[in-house]
Amino acid sequence: MFYDPLTIWSFTTFSTLLIAGVLLLSWVMWPGENALAYWGTAFVLTTMGLAGLAARGVVPAFASIELANTALLLAWATAWNGFRAFDRRRPVIWLPLALIGAWILSCQLPGFRDDAVPRMWVMLVFTTVLVLLSIREIYRRRADGLVSRWLVIGLLALHLGAMVARPALLLVGFITVNIEGSVLRDPGLIVYAFELVAFQLLMAFCLIGLVRERRERHFEEAALVDDLTGLLNRRGFQSRIREVVAGGGPMAVLALDLDRFKSINDVYGHAAGDDVLRLFADVLRDNLRGADIVARLGGEEFGIVLPGAGEAAAREIAERIRLGFRRSGEGLPMHEARPSASIGVAAGFLPPLAPEAALAALQEQADAALYAAKRGGRDRVVVHGVGEGAAERPDPGLKAAAP
Ligand code: GH3
Ligand code: MG
Ligand code: MG
Repeated sequence: MFYDPLTIWSFTTFSTLLIAGVLLLSWVMWPGENALAYWGTAFVLTTMGLAGLAARGVVPAFASIELANTALLLAWATAWNGFRAFDRRRPVIWLPLALIGAWILSCQLPGFRDDAVPRMWVMLVFTTVLVLLSIREIYRRRADGLVSRWLVIGLLALHLGAMVARPALLLVGFITVNIEGSVLRDPGLIVYAFELVAFQLLMAFCLIGLVRERRERHFEEAALVDDLTGLLNRRGFQSRIREVVAGGGPMAVLALDLDRFKSINDVYGHAAGDDVLRLFADVLRDNLRGADIVARLGGEEFGIVLPGAGEAAAREIAERIRLGFRRSGEGLPMHEARPSASIGVAAGFLPPLAPEAALAALQEQADAALYAAKRGGRDRVVVHGVGEGAAERPDPGLKAAAP
């Protein structure tokens, strides 16, 4: 095969610069994603390092040995810090500086500087440390379930294998190399020129994919959350319910509505009304466990699903919420219209085979109980299907539990 090392290494260097451009442009498009700036900079530094190695003999040895390798170390360190930035961790500067200091100092030793083999080993060890740190960094937050993390880890591991292969083959005498001159004079390194292009291209693709995957995840989740209260919205409520209800079992549903909320808005203004909604959401959070599902379904209407809860427990929780809200409302400067809430409760057993239909029936019952609570004078909990109650015109089967 005929090849021209200068052309091939020029192409590799140029493609590294192009990839840096792609990453930096991605950062311009998504300015909050600083990891892309780190990774783009790492590729710029790699470009400088590769150019320096190729220019051996053309530029002073200091530039093509000390500086070019320093640029490559700095590139890996910057990539590592990019992974830290991706997971919102602070950059670490001392380790790159220590490695670079050790490198430049070692190069001052005549025996070391003039022998390519120990130089290669030291660079390999330093680079391996930084690659392993990068892998550890991206592995650390794997619990978020981003698939791209594993792609990045796989690529880094493959590249590390390729980097280690050459000195290893050299060690066992399988290959001999001449790296006294520039990379251009070592035919064995041509393989690396191609490996580098492939690795870098795939890596840039995965890095952008990593950022993209997390952004999409963020927007998907944001679409399920209510901005004002931070609770789930109606869509989020439905989607969480689908997950929880699948297995069937005991379940309680609460329908909640703030009382005479329109007059709170009218008297104290919309912003004060918003404060009351947030306050109510805080009361809900304070009184529920992690497995409970709570949402603002719209306006001043809220919904709660309590997996595993029976009627007595659901009524108790509803009462706690009602009283908790009244107590918190006392702190507000609202004397004309003290905030309160009416709550309808329904509990039952969802059969594992058709839990959705049974849940829908519970929701209707909770709504009917809420309606009864409103008619009964508001600021009360009504449990569906429990005897007679204090409603003004009580429905059969509806009972006001309080006051
Ligand atoms: P009831 O006791 O029968 O429930 O009376 P209500 O006034 O609470 O019920 P109604 O449905 O008549 O009024 C609900 C009010 O909620 C009307 C609307 O302006 C207000 N509202 C809906 N969404 C928001 C919001 O996001 N912020 C604020 N401040 N008010 C809202
Ligand atoms: Mg209301
Ligand atoms: Mg309402």
